[in-house]
Amino acid sequence: MTLTVLPETMSRELKLRCIGCDAALPPTLIYRCPDCGGILEVVRQKPEGRGWLRADFVADDITLGEGGTPFRELRPGLLHAGFRGRLLVKDETRNPSGSFKDRLVAAALSQAIALGATGIVSASSGNAGAAAACYAANAGIPAIVVCPDTTPRGKLAQIVAYGAALEQVPGHYGNAFEHARRLCAETGYANLTTTYLNPYGVDALRLIGQELHEQMEGVGPDWIAIPTSSGPLVKGVFQGFMDRAGKVPRLIAAQSEGCAPIARAFRDKKIDVDGWENPKTIASGISDPLLGYPEEGSLTLSLVRASKGVAHAVGDADIRTAMIDLAHKAGLFCEPTGAASLAAARDLFMKGTIGSTDTVVCIVTGHGFKDFAAWT
Ligand SMILES: *Cc1c(COP(=O)(O)O)cnc(C)c1O
Ligand SMILES: [Zn+2]
Repeated sequence: MTLTVLPETMSRELKLRCIGCDAALPPTLIYRCPDCGGILEVVRQKPEGRGWLRADFVADDITLGEGGTPFRELRPGLLHAGFRGRLLVKDETRNPSGSFKDRLVAAALSQAIALGATGIVSASSGNAGAAAACYAANAGIPAIVVCPDTTPRGKLAQIVAYGAALEQVPGHYGNAFEHARRLCAETGYANLTTTYLNPYGVDALRLIGQELHEQMEGVGPDWIAIPTSSGPLVKGVFQGFMDRAGKVPRLIAAQSEGCAPIARAFRDKKIDVDGWENPKTIASGISDPLLGYPEEGSLTLSLVRASKGVAHAVGDADIRTAMIDLAHKAGLFCEPTGAASLAAARDLFMKGTIGSTDTVVCIVTGHGFKDFAAWT
C-alpha cells in the first residue's frame, strides 16, 4: 500500500465542531461529541485567493474523478405541461460508482487513511457501500459493508465486485447502522457510514453546492430538489451556496411517503424529527427511518427551513413515473430514489408552491443500473 500524505491544503487548520454544544475538537476518527453526543461538523479555512478544489478534501491517490458532474437544461414540459419556467438536472449518476456517495466516501477515506485507519466499515442502503467498496479497492485497504437484506441486487453486486466483505442484516437500515458501529469498535476500522456520522465525508459535499452555483453562472435557482434520507446532501448544497454566495436557494427535501420522517415533521410544524416505523418504499436510497438518531433529521429540517424551503413526500407511483419520464424524455437512466427530486417538484408545482416561471434544479442521485428490478 502506498502511504497517503495529505496535501498541505487538506490538513491546514482543520477542526471539528459539535453542532450541539459548540465544543471544538481536534480532527481524529471520532463520530459524535464526547461531551453531549451531538453531531460533529468540520470547520475549515476558506482557501485564500482561489476557489475550493477537490484536492482540498480528497488525496491525489484516492480520487477516482468523482464530482464535476454534468448539469443540463430539460424541457420545462417534463416538470408539467403548464410550467413555463426553467428545469435543470444535476446528474450525479455520473460518478465512478454511480451515485453522489462517491464524493463523500473519497473525502472520508482520505482522512481515515491519513489518520491511520487500516480498514473501513460502511452501513449502507447500497450506494454508500458500493462507493466504500470501490474506493477501498483502489486504496488497497479492506472494507466491510453492512446492508439491510432488502438492498437491491445491483448494489450488492457492485459491493461484491469491488471485493468488499458484505454482511446483510435483517430489517431496516437502522439495524445495519448499529451493526456497523459494533464492527468498528471490534476492528478499529474507520466508520464511513454516510449519514452525518462521518464529518469529513459530509464536509466534502459542499463541493456539489459550489459546483451548482458555478454551473448556474452565479444566478441561484429558485428551488433545488434533493432526494433526502438523513440529509448530508442537503447540508452540502446549503453549505456550498453559503461558501459561494452567502445565501441559499429554497431547498426541497424529497422523501417517499413510505419513509418520510423529515417531511412528516415539516408538515406537522415540528422542530424535532421522530423515527419512522416500518419503512417501505421502492426508493431504497432514501429508506432510512432515522430510528436511533432522529436528531440527524432535525438538523436537516432546520437547514431546509433556514433556506425557506420545504420537506415533501411523494408516493412510490409518482416516483416511478418521474423515473420513467427521465429515461424516456431526457435520456437519463436512474434508480427510483434519483427521481424523487423530480417527483416532489412536480407535486409542489401542482400544489402551487413552485411558481409557473420559477427556475428548478433537480439533483438525480443514483444510476439506473443499480436497481434493475425497479425497471422490470
Ligand atoms: C444516500 C442517497 C440519498 C440520500 O442522501 P442523504 O445525504 O443521506 O440524505 C439520495 N439518493 C441516493 C441515490 C442515495 O444513495
Ligand atoms: Zn457537544
